[in-house]
Amino acid sequence: MTVICWFRRMLRLDDHPALVAAAREGAVIPLVILAPQEARLRPASAQRQAMSLPRLEASLRSRHSRLIVRRGDPAEVLEAIARETGADTVHTTTGFPFYSDHGLKAAVERGGATLCLHHPADLIPRGSVTTKTGDPYKVFTPFWKSMRQCDIAQPLDAPSLSSPDRWPDSDGLDWPEARRAMRRGWDVMAEHIRPGEDEALDRLDAFMSDDMADYKANRDLPWREHGTSELSDSLAVGEISARRIWHRCLPALHDGRKGAETFMSELAWREFGRELMHQSPKMDSDNWRDEWADFPWKRDNAEAEAWKRGQTGIAMVDAGMRELYVTGRMHNRVRMITGSYLTKNLLTDWRVGLEWFEHALIDWDAASNAMNWQWVAGSGADSAPFFRIFNPDTQAEKFDAKGRYRDFWLNPESKGAKSFAEAAPESWKIDLKKKHYPAMSLGESRKRALSAYQDLKG
Ligand SMILES: Cc1cc2nc3c(=O)[nH]c(=O)nc-3n(C[C@H](O)[C@H](O)[C@H](O)COP(=O)(O)OP(=O)(O)OC[C@H]3O[C@@H](n4cnc5c(N)ncnc54)[C@H](O)[C@@H]3O)c2cc1C
Repeated sequence: MTVICWFRRMLRLDDHPALVAAAREGAVIPLVILAPQEARLRPASAQRQAMSLPRLEASLRSRHSRLIVRRGDPAEVLEAIARETGADTVHTTTGFPFYSDHGLKAAVERGGATLCLHHPADLIPRGSVTTKTGDPYKVFTPFWKSMRQCDIAQPLDAPSLSSPDRWPDSDGLDWPEARRAMRRGWDVMAEHIRPGEDEALDRLDAFMSDDMADYKANRDLPWREHGTSELSDSLAVGEISARRIWHRCLPALHDGRKGAETFMSELAWREFGRELMHQSPKMDSDNWRDEWADFPWKRDNAEAEAWKRGQTGIAMVDAGMRELYVTGRMHNRVRMITGSYLTKNLLTDWRVGLEWFEHALIDWDAASNAMNWQWVAGSGADSAPFFRIFNPDTQAEKFDAKGRYRDFWLNPESKGAKSFAEAAPESWKIDLKKKHYPAMSLGESRKRALSAYQDLKG
C-alpha cells in the first residue's frame, strides 16, 4: 500500500503518531503543504517552519526516504496528490487549536483515499484532567497538581520507512510567500533561528545539564543568556514533542534536581492553554470573562502603532518590541511587561497585541498566545487582576538592573539596535538616535486605567 503522511506542524520523525501509523500501513510519502494564506497571516512563524524543512528532508533522506513539498490550499493539494499517487490513506494530525479540519475528509475522498487523523502527542488527551466533579479546571495551580499525578504516555520512537515505487514531484523547499511577507526581516531573523529536530534535542540536553539548576532564579532575567530553554519555537513547529521533553525531565524531577519542577510546570502552562482553548475555542477572539465586553479598550490607534515599532519612549517596552521584531522571540517577563503596557497604560484591546504577536513570533501558538494575552489584560482564566499593573520602569530596575538588555536593543551603537534598523520596514523610517516620548506619564496612564476598571465594576 502507498500512504501519505501529511506532516502539518509536526516537523519531526520522533514521537509522531501519524507517521508511526503510516509506516505500519505501507510505503510512506512524507508531505508538507505550504499554504500562502498562512505566510501572509504569520510570516515569522512561516519563516520558522520554512527553515526547518531542509533539516526534516535531511532526516528523511538518511532513512532512505524523501520530503515532498507542495504549495497551495491544503484541501486542494491533498485531493490532487492522493489521486496522482493512488494512495490508499492520508495520515495526519488533528487537534491543533488553529487549523481547521473542515473539508479535508471530503477532499481526500475525492482523491480516492481515506483520511486518518491522529493526536498531536500533547502531554494529556484533551479533557482528561478534570476536577472531582468532572469539570474542567479554570485555575492553573490545581490543574498542575492534578496533571502531575497523571501517567504521561511515553513518546514514540521514529519508525523505519519504506519508499513508494514512484515518487511524486515536489515543489522544492523554498516558501516564496513567506520570504515576500518577511521582506528585509528574513535574513536578520534567520541568524537567530536554530532549526531542526536534532538541534531541539541538543538544546534540551544542554539546558538540562547546564542551565536547569538555576532556572527558577534566571528565568525572569531577560539579559541572561540561556536563562530559559528557548524551546518554544521548536515546540510550536513540532520539532520536538512536549512528551519527549517531559520524559527526559522526569528522572530529574524524581531525583529532586533543582529547577526540574519549575521547568515542568511551565510546560504544564502550555498544556493548560490547550485545555482552556479546548473548552473555549474562541479564546483568541472573545473575552474569556464576558463582563469585559463593555471595557472601553481602543482598537488600532497611533500609540499602539508606536508600541509595535518600539517607539513608545518607555525603555523596557521598546527594547522588548525590538527584540520581537528582530528575533521573532521575546523574553517571557518582557512579554508580560509590553502586554500590560499596551492593554492597561495604553488602554488598547488585547486583540491588537495578540494579532501583532501572531504576525511577529516564531513561537506563535494560538492557545499560548490567547491565554497569555487574556491573562495579561485581566479578561482571562486565572488572570492577574486588572489593578495589578506592571510598572515597566520598576520591572526594568528589578529584572534588568544593570540595563544590559535595554542597552543591547536601544543603544544606537549596539548590535541589537543596528539589527532592528536593518530588519524594520523602510516605511517605519527608523532613526536610532531619535528620542521618543510617551503621551502620558506612567502614573497618569495607570490612574486612567484604574478608573476605567472602576467604571466597569461599577
Ligand atoms: C502576552 C504573551 C504571549 C505569549 N505568546 C506565546 C506564544 O504565542 N507561543 C508560546 O509558545 N508562548 C507564548 N507565551 C509564553 C512564553 O512567553 C513563551 O513560551 C516563553 O517565553 C518561551 O521561552 P522558552 O522556550 O525559553 O521558555 P521556558 O521558560 O524554557 O519554558 C519551557 C516551555 O514551557 C512553555 N511555557 C513557558 N511559559 C509559558 C506560558 N506563560 N504560557 C504557555 N506556555 C509556556 C513553553 O512551551 C516553553 O518553551 C506568551 C506569553 C505572553 C505573556
